[in-house]
Amino acid sequence: MPAAVTAFLGLGSNLGDRETNIRKALERLARVPGVEVATVSTLRETAPVGGPAQGAFLNGAARLVTSLPAAALLAVCRELEREAGRDFRLPRNHPRPLDLDLLLYGDEIIDTRELQVPHPRMWERGFVLDPLRELGADLSAHEAVPRPRVVRDVEEFAALSTRWLHGGCVTGLVPTMGALHAGHASLVRAARAECDRVAVTVFVNPLQFGPKEDYARYPRSLEADVELLRREDADAVFVPDAAAMYGSGFCSQVAVGAEAEGMEGAARPGHFSGVVTVVLKLLAIARPARVYFGSKDAQQVAVVRRMLTDLGFPVALRECPIVREPSGLAMSSRNAYLSPEQRAAGAVLYRGLAAARDAFRSGDRDAAALLQAARAVIGSERGVELEYLELRREGDLAPLGPGPVLDPRMLVAARVGHTRLLDNVSLARAEP
Ligand code: AMP
Repeated sequence: MPAAVTAFLGLGSNLGDRETNIRKALERLARVPGVEVATVSTLRETAPVGGPAQGAFLNGAARLVTSLPAAALLAVCRELEREAGRDFRLPRNHPRPLDLDLLLYGDEIIDTRELQVPHPRMWERGFVLDPLRELGADLSAHEAVPRPRVVRDVEEFAALSTRWLHGGCVTGLVPTMGALHAGHASLVRAARAECDRVAVTVFVNPLQFGPKEDYARYPRSLEADVELLRREDADAVFVPDAAAMYGSGFCSQVAVGAEAEGMEGAARPGHFSGVVTVVLKLLAIARPARVYFGSKDAQQVAVVRRMLTDLGFPVALRECPIVREPSGLAMSSRNAYLSPEQRAAGAVLYRGLAAARDAFRSGDRDAAALLQAARAVIGSERGVELEYLELRREGDLAPLGPGPVLDPRMLVAARVGHTRLLDNVSLARAEP
């Protein structure tokens, strides 16, 4: 017989006869072999967290003494929730007749696909912490982990990733340079929808900046970034410093090829080698099953995809659509450099691309004519200096051959004042 462990359950209900739902579950629980319900806290009215509009919760906690392993106790809780009529097809944060959360199981740390103990969201929830304190739970035995967990140390992040991997979790990684906006948030949301753990990296990577570029003044806003990631329910944010990523003597870099030729590769020599090197390093540390990039940087996606294929890295690349301002301007951390007038002017890039897409949809298949359709619009905006405008093959962005274009993507870079803006659209495929 395994030794008895003190465990704490969170109790909640906001559908039907809430108190009866909770009391019935506790009676059923007390009859499960290997479970003793030792004490139950008072139940309190609590406002719902997230989800659709719904009624208040009744919340509390119970102290159990149990010889069941944590996973078996969790299975019992799920069964009781099911018996109470909970519909598990509904997303999280929907109204529910019964919610039983395993909050603490002795002083164990459990981090598997099925179970996270201590409960990861309990530390910021008074309606969980107050009943636990009422029951005399020793919270000092546990480290209060904020969400997202902010990790600066490379070894610590590697250890966390390893724990997730060994726990059977599918991890999604979202590499960013911070100054997060709705575009980044869309990547985190895509990861959250299909992964057990979501990690975001915030690292302004010196290796991908040229000597005359904006590395030093690139916008940095970690506090706001962490707040955005809290709202998007990311599990961890990795914020290494450059010295830890590139220690003394660092000299190995990944070479890039055809995908990095022209466009950004021509405008920013060395940029893509710096990008794929840091991506490879982040993947090696985080070992995710999926990694998320935005179409906003379409050439970057093509270069990274090639690197993953060539080096056989076992990770699925997910490409997410461009998120735009209402004006059409593609969201970018560098938009912070723009004055309101420049911001308005920058929206011409999308109008130009959209004009080419309209021409394509009207049957125009001539590359020169499609480029001219975009150039005419973009050229009409004073203060926007075109750097390149290109039609490339969708996917790998290879240059197009002669003859009619079939499935092209049009890519643009332009300067507005000192700020470089990028944008692109597929001419044949619908943008979500
Ligand atoms: P950055 O922080 O600029 O390196 O971007 C990090 C990731 O977010 C990259 O994969 C970008 O392509 C993606 N991203 C940046 N802006 C947008 C946007 N407006 N829509 C969608 N993804 C974006």
